[in-house]
Amino acid sequence: MSHSLFPPTREAALERLRDFIPNAGARYTQGRNTDAGPDSPSATSRLSPYLRRRIVTEEQIITAVLAAHSLQAAEKFVQEVLWRTYWKGWLELRPSVWARFLTARDCAAVVDARALTDAEAGRTGIEGFDDWAQELRETGYLHNHARMWFASIWIFTLRLPWALGADFFLRYLLDADPASNTLSWRWVAGLQTVGKTYLATTDNIARFTNGRYAPRGLAREAIALTEAPLPVQPLRVLPSSHCATPALLLVTDEDMGPEFLLDHRLAIRAATIVVDQDLHSGDKVRAFVASAANDLATRLREVLDDRVTVSGPLDAPTLISAAHAAGVDRILTAYAPVGPLADRLADVTAAVAKEGIVLEWVRRDWDARFWPHASKGFFAFKERIPTLLGELGC
Ligand SMILES: Cc1cc2nc3c(=O)[nH]c(=O)nc-3n(C[C@H](O)[C@H](O)[C@H](O)COP(=O)(O)OP(=O)(O)OC[C@H]3O[C@@H](n4cnc5c(N)ncnc54)[C@H](O)[C@@H]3O)c2cc1C
Repeated sequence: MSHSLFPPTREAALERLRDFIPNAGARYTQGRNTDAGPDSPSATSRLSPYLRRRIVTEEQIITAVLAAHSLQAAEKFVQEVLWRTYWKGWLELRPSVWARFLTARDCAAVVDARALTDAEAGRTGIEGFDDWAQELRETGYLHNHARMWFASIWIFTLRLPWALGADFFLRYLLDADPASNTLSWRWVAGLQTVGKTYLATTDNIARFTNGRYAPRGLAREAIALTEAPLPVQPLRVLPSSHCATPALLLVTDEDMGPEFLLDHRLAIRAATIVVDQDLHSGDKVRAFVASAANDLATRLREVLDDRVTVSGPLDAPTLISAAHAAGVDRILTAYAPVGPLADRLADVTAAVAKEGIVLEWVRRDWDARFWPHASKGFFAFKERIPTLLGELGC
């Protein structure tokens, strides 16, 4: 599998979705746990790099799938898509978990620096693990089960700090996501579901790789990590954005599907797509985002003609000059969930306010509906799915 399997365009994402839809029922349910290898067809959708940046959204994907399958037939796939929504909501309600991850990453004590570089380079001698490290670096993608095995071996067999493994994934995954990645690594380590760890075993790996790998010498026990209790806070309340004051549309790579903000009531005068490469640490992610921004600019120009720019970095001077060029003192942007971009955007929002420019964050209905229900475990969240999908008209 090569990087070209993820062409950074909306058209490629929609084509992938169209091709996947017939498989979203029984084929997905039965085959989703098998990782047949990077060069074999997958029962999973491989939509994650697009979904991560909302080049296609959860809502679009689930609506398309439910037009072809009943909710019962596609239940497993719908639930997996909603794991993403759940993780995003869970982190919104507990933003300190992101700060804890950054501290754990920056303060990680590595006893054996060579072991860390060998793990990242795929030179541990552990069957499967070394190939997954290479596959991740080369393709920017790993199957879900491979991510679980990799994280488990990293933490419990190699005894490396979990936060450095999560950081390795963030640098190479095209779908690298502060919520899905951090919380999945925490889940493997036993922090997420307190006391419950994920232990990769030789038999499970052999079975779900179709016998390609059967690594020996894996840890036989996985003792959960522990941490101080987590504070929970309500979702941030946002002002209503439905006012007719003319605005500049700011698009970031957190949400590259800004069409929902082109509603005429929001009076968008121009758009600026701001790609800040400093916020991404991997070259492949940078290249993906830069090309996706150009693709989006072409799409937006069909609506806004030449009033679309692609710029950077994400800072106050860039936005102030874009707002002045558009003749507005109001900027609208899709809500940025917890992560590096949200931190930067919060600073920029405060800085432009000093110049009399209001930067409003607009949350999608999807997120506003689902996120408040991420206060407990996924089981309770899952029970709400049919009702909430009905309310959203999916
Ligand atoms: C250690 C670890 C790290 C991970 N890091 C990330 C990450 O940074 N970004 C990311 O998007 N996913 C992450 N995942 C979740 C999952 O592995 C990927 O979303 C999935 O493999 C993407 O492949 P797909 O598009 O073929 O998935 P499909 O099975 O086709 O699922 C469709 C979509 O649902 C979502 N999804 C599916 N499973 C999960 C899940 N378990 N958690 C959250 N969302 C899910 C994804 O957006 C995916 O594209 C991680 C999992 C683990 C165990």
